[in-house]
Amino acid sequence: MSEARIVRVAGAIAEARPLGDAALYELVEVGEQRLLGEVIRLQDDVATIQVFEETSGLGLDEPVRRTGASLMIELGPGLLGSVLDGVGRPLNGLAERSGDFMAPGMTMPTLDPDARWSFRPSIEPGEAVRPGDVLGLLQERPGMTHRILVPPGSEGTVARIERGDFTISDPIGALEDGTPLTLSHPWAIRQRRPFSRRLPGDRPFITGQRVFDLLFPVVEGGSVAVPGGFGTGKTVIEQSLAKYAKADIMVYIGCGERGNEMAEVLHDFGKLTDPETGRPIMDRTILIVNTSNMPVAARDASVYLGMTIAEYYRDMGYHVAILADSLSRWAEALREIAARLQEMPGEEGYPTYLANRMSRLYERAGRVESQGTVSRTGAVTFISAISPPGGDFAEPVTQASLRVVGALWALDARLAHQRQFPAVDWDISYSLYTDSTASWFAEQGGADWQALRVETIRLLQRDRELREIAGLVGVDALEDEDRLVLEGARIAREFLIGQNAFHPNDAFSSVEKTYRLVKLLWSFMETGETALKEGLGFDKLDLAAVRGAFGAVKTASPEQFDEQVSKAQKTISEMRPT
Ligand code: ADP
Ligand code: MG
Repeated sequence: MSEARIVRVAGAIAEARPLGDAALYELVEVGEQRLLGEVIRLQDDVATIQVFEETSGLGLDEPVRRTGASLMIELGPGLLGSVLDGVGRPLNGLAERSGDFMAPGMTMPTLDPDARWSFRPSIEPGEAVRPGDVLGLLQERPGMTHRILVPPGSEGTVARIERGDFTISDPIGALEDGTPLTLSHPWAIRQRRPFSRRLPGDRPFITGQRVFDLLFPVVEGGSVAVPGGFGTGKTVIEQSLAKYAKADIMVYIGCGERGNEMAEVLHDFGKLTDPETGRPIMDRTILIVNTSNMPVAARDASVYLGMTIAEYYRDMGYHVAILADSLSRWAEALREIAARLQEMPGEEGYPTYLANRMSRLYERAGRVESQGTVSRTGAVTFISAISPPGGDFAEPVTQASLRVVGALWALDARLAHQRQFPAVDWDISYSLYTDSTASWFAEQGGADWQALRVETIRLLQRDRELREIAGLVGVDALEDEDRLVLEGARIAREFLIGQNAFHPNDAFSSVEKTYRLVKLLWSFMETGETALKEGLGFDKLDLAAVRGAFGAVKTASPEQFDEQVSKAQKTISEMRPT
């Protein structure tokens, strides 16, 4: 049979024939440069290929070779701390890291083939094993134990297993049927990794952002959509979570956003240490970089790549958070490819299967019981930014997300304009996880956590109503009780839910800090109400001192925190003149 040749190139799409016997989603090498591509349509003997690399150098009649495999990633030790492109190739040199340059061709393996890992078996020869069973352990990074599991689909009795220093391709042992055991295995990224069963979430993913942890919490294994127009703070939120939130492992996907932002991420993340462990945050982080100047087809792959890596660590029993910025750019890549294929467009030009693809993607998040004789519990939490054009949430990507996510953190351009950050619109944001996280917060935060959350949301709603009235009649015409509500809401906005991502003492708020700030807010409200009931006028309250005290608590260093809380408590009790 004759060799397949390119018959057409259009943007990220190439057509080649004869290639009728290829499989859908089979990986192919395109052209003399052997660019990485994937078969996305087969018609008669013509294969349509989406090419993951720059196609400008590609000419007609160049050869196309089948690989017989689909887009895979090698899963094993060495993923932590790595920076990968959309198809899983490590970006090493500085030029590559800025996203300006990538060597074409499928030459770079994800994992370092020469790295040696000190492996300790935890089973003996003669033992029967099945998928998910732990073969042994190695230390991937300081404080990060990597469990080597029997991969999905593999089963048998262990004939040999050895302790020693191995590369990822060395056999560490074998099954009785001769199947070699190794430290890594390949996985097709578009396919979700199997588990035993889904479990309900029962503890929060601590974001360190008061507005989320207190008002709109997310459970470990949950999914959140973060839609917002340009400049509303999506990237700052995703990056703050990647830096400070509490998960065993963070997978950050920079998908189709500006290259300079990603360069900043690489710079920042490389310097930061986790305050609790003192270890570099890159020890628990994987960065996937597919910026707007990189080929669009790889954007599609980058999201599945991130998801697959997350599932791999989930299977070991870890809690992994995926932070994607932004899913809209991924959807736009689908749209661009679909347009090139001249498919019948759906809403706003997106392919008709957009919602279906999105829900299948979101469904890969969750808390699960792993496969294996002794199962482990792991979770993948998925937080994805969405960039609706013009900030209009009626568009297809936001709408498709809302059908499946458990929480909405809606960002509002008006709040961002007022520098109210995180610019979370508390009127339309919601969380379906408040009940499943309630007992954890009651135990770890405070028994009245849930009540404080409800009261604070009510305060903010009341504030909105009152401000509308005040806009008509003037603040002075309001009752003193209403003016107290306005002041309480102002404190809530400025000092409780407002959080400065760039202030070293405010960028992360522990559950304790969040709790004590909200308690102070309600202590202020109660003291104020009592004063008013006793006949003292609202104008008599020393509000400037109170605001100053709240500001000091919000930005106090950890060493000064207790002292500032006591001071604020005192200021509140003394705000009425004696
Ligand atoms: P988006 O990704 O939605 O376009 P960004 O995350 O880049 O928006 O945020 C735009 C700007 O808003 C940031 O550069 C920063 O100045 C400001 N900002 C956003 N969130 C915060 C925050 N939590 N604290 C302080 N400034 C913020
Ligand atoms: Mg952004």
